[in-house]
Amino acid sequence: MSRKTISAETREKLRVSSKRLHAGPSCPIGMYGRKHSEETKAKISLSMTGKKKSPDHVQKMAEIFRGDGSKRWKGGEHKKDGYVLTWVGSHRYIKRCRIIAQKAIGRELKTSECVHHINGNRSDDRKENLLVCMNSYHQVLHQRMKKCADKNKLQEVSL
Ligand SMILES: [Zn+2]
Repeated sequence: MSRKTISAETREKLRVSSKRLHAGPSCPIGMYGRKHSEETKAKISLSMTGKKKSPDHVQKMAEIFRGDGSKRWKGGEHKKDGYVLTWVGSHRYIKRCRIIAQKAIGRELKTSECVHHINGNRSDDRKENLLVCMNSYHQVLHQRMKKCADKNKLQEVSL
């Protein structure tokens, strides 16, 4: 079987037609080698704004940026108001001290219950530094602590 040879004429025709397909302002197909005019660019950006992403796309993005994939992921913990918050999924963070207290007492904490940091350091979540108490008692506790602190200050001044 002999290989089919293409005549020089045909080759030239092919070259020209492929050139016509892929380049030049006369190109009827695709955007190869062409640039959008500023006007067209504005039109495109206008048509893209407010466009909803497909659920598939959202899912993909969520998978990429979730958890370890996220540049902002810091092991699921971050600090707020001195408390260490722990990621518990579904866009929720809860105070790490509550998780530790729950493990220590072997049951879930009620919303009416509070975890007090005995040494006053809110990021010190050691079991021995935590005290589970009712919200109301917790407030009383802090009022007393404040009074004590004020008293100490007065004493310091009078000394
Ligand atoms: Zn407290």
